[in-house]
Amino acid sequence: MPDGEATAAALVPGAAPVPGSGPGARSPEPPLTYLDHAASTPMRPEVVEAMAPFAAHVFGHPSGSHRQARAARAALEEARDQVAQVLGCAPAEVVFTAGGTEADNLAVLGALGAAALERPGRPTVVVSSAVEHAAVLASCRAAAARLPGVEHQEVGVDSRGVLHLDQLADALDEDVALVTVMLANNEVGTVQPLSDVVAEVARRAPGAFVHTDAVQAAPWLDLAEAAAGAALVSVSAHKLGGPKGAGALVVRKGTPLLPLMVGGGQERERRAGTHDVAGAVGLAAALAASAAEREEESVRVAALRDRLADGIQAAVPAVVEAADRKDVLPGHCLLCFSGVDREELVLLLDQAGVCVSGGAACASGALEPSHVLAAMGVPDADARGAIRFSLGHTSSSADVERALAVVPEAVARLRG
Ligand code: PLP
Repeated sequence: MPDGEATAAALVPGAAPVPGSGPGARSPEPPLTYLDHAASTPMRPEVVEAMAPFAAHVFGHPSGSHRQARAARAALEEARDQVAQVLGCAPAEVVFTAGGTEADNLAVLGALGAAALERPGRPTVVVSSAVEHAAVLASCRAAAARLPGVEHQEVGVDSRGVLHLDQLADALDEDVALVTVMLANNEVGTVQPLSDVVAEVARRAPGAFVHTDAVQAAPWLDLAEAAAGAALVSVSAHKLGGPKGAGALVVRKGTPLLPLMVGGGQERERRAGTHDVAGAVGLAAALAASAAEREEESVRVAALRDRLADGIQAAVPAVVEAADRKDVLPGHCLLCFSGVDREELVLLLDQAGVCVSGGAACASGALEPSHVLAAMGVPDADARGAIRFSLGHTSSSADVERALAVVPEAVARLRG
């Protein structure tokens, strides 16, 4: 641990495993008002329970032949079936990964690697939205830097964060091998018109494959329907109440993919390495649990989010909501507090026990300017005061009331 860093137990007194409060929350003594579910949401009790045997006594290598190995393999394949059912694909199309970042890297670098091999001497173009997560954007840039003939083009978004379909249409031709557009944005929560993207690609670049990063959308949208047209779909367990470091990439039949990890031939030669059986079981349990409550939870959480966003805007002057709520996921709300430094506000709110996000941090710990807000045309002065409040399955009205009691005072203090 770096010098001067406090222990987890010191930072979260009571060591209650699940932050949150009130009905819907599972911790009797809430240590925190946790409003950063889009960064990571607490593990669901049923997920912890499903994973426990694999931490305790089912430890076999799932590629082996004896009973311990067979038990691990049976659990892995059961998890694969469950994941496939929720994601609307065949079990053989599920590739387990170590999270969303790996799924995105495998989709982009894997699909472009395969495409570049198939078309020597011809350009291989990847088109992405300008507001993709860094895992996708950096993969596109790495592919362009490392793979001969690969070029990356970005397509912009409008002021709501929605992809410009006309610009996408202009970018599509026979050189395009991959189009990657996230289902919903991590910062603002804007949901993209993925079926329109798929239709446009089929019309203008029929040889291209579509990848969607569904990491943020997974708790809120039925991916079997919403991502049906994408050949490649990324999900991550820890956004769903599952463990960190577990995820999956759906690779639909007939989608060429060059593996990033080679060695043991696992996952039908698409991702080598001894399986994280507990992680796969956790991902499956988290997907199943969130799918079962999706409709009710979307309504409940959107109502809490609306109360929070309306309450803050009623109490604090000069606040701009980055996107229209009808375009965004139920748990997301990004507010720009003009004249406030987001880093200072995050720290002040943290001191009051309210956890929110001010954006992605770079290696030094300072916040990066948001490429998403810049692409949406949000003025710098507003973007500097942008805070993401994100609610999830443990959020309660007590969390909202506590935030409403704390945020206006914190903003006033910083503006004062
Ligand atoms: N894609 C999106 C849209 C995300 O929000 C995240 C995580 O914040 C990732 C990818 C990366 O997923 P993971 O944290 O599992 O690596």
